Amino acid sequence: MKIIVAKDAGYCFGVRQAVDQAYKTAEDNGDVYMLGHIVHNEHVVKDLEKSGTKVVASLDDVPEDKPLLFRAHGTEPGIWEAAKHKNLNIIDATCPLVTEIHEEVKRLEKDGRNIIIIGDHGHDEVVGIASQIKKPIVISSADEARELRKMKKAGVVSQSTQMIENIQEIFSVLLTKITDLHFVNTICFPTKRNHEQIKELAQVADVMIIIGSFTSANSKRLTQLALERNPHSYQVTNAQDIKNEWFANAETVGISAGASTPDDIIQDVIKHVKKLGKVIDEEIIYE
Ligand code: SF4
Repeated sequence: MKIIVAKDAGYCFGVRQAVDQAYKTAEDNGDVYMLGHIVHNEHVVKDLEKSGTKVVASLDDVPEDKPLLFRAHGTEPGIWEAAKHKNLNIIDATCPLVTEIHEEVKRLEKDGRNIIIIGDHGHDEVVGIASQIKKPIVISSADEARELRKMKKAGVVSQSTQMIENIQEIFSVLLTKITDLHFVNTICFPTKRNHEQIKELAQVADVMIIIGSFTSANSKRLTQLALERNPHSYQVTNAQDIKNEWFANAETVGISAGASTPDDIIQDVIKHVKKLGKVIDEEIIYE
């Protein structure tokens, strides 16, 4: 059996940087506070808690002498202002690619356009993007696009982890409704690479494993991409979820993971799969 691991499986650089900053800040200060979880992964959340990260619901729960970390997904301007006003020690772990989307929607708004954000309702990143402008319109599907009124001028961006196929479907509806449409492709490059590798790998592998939490919309999207190309695709949260029978006739196993899946869980899964079959090639990295 051959194991092929997607090169961009797991943490994207934005999440990696935020998680590293959380560990380092907790180590230096004893504690670090955050408004919400840093990634949608229970394993990482638990481990961070052990290291001194505290998740709170409001700025009022952050002690004055403790650092407050703003997560990779971005933070609403009102919260930034309030935190500065309280003189809190802010550690900004906003991913620079999320900041670019914030700048983009502000530019489009200045240009007099209605702003449409393609993304998951209620997702932290989408909430952060929407909060940059006055009248955001968030849609997640072509059906929601069909519900929109006709418009003269609109600017469209997407959540960084959207699938291009979803955007294309929505876009074809928007074209029938909007005369002057300016689309900025804001899917980030780590997401693009991860999606492309999974699409290709799912076609060459007999079995495809996607590692990621079921609470992560991003990981579920990856599984969907794999399943559309290979019915023998499975999402697991860790090595314990793996079932031996999946590999009965498998000669090649492809492995990838969501942007919130930590390295140690990916390594555990690879080790576990290796034990199940005679691995003829050392694990190969798929670029
Ligand atoms: S998914 Fe992309 S935009 Fe989001 S944190 Fe990762 S690199 Fe940044």
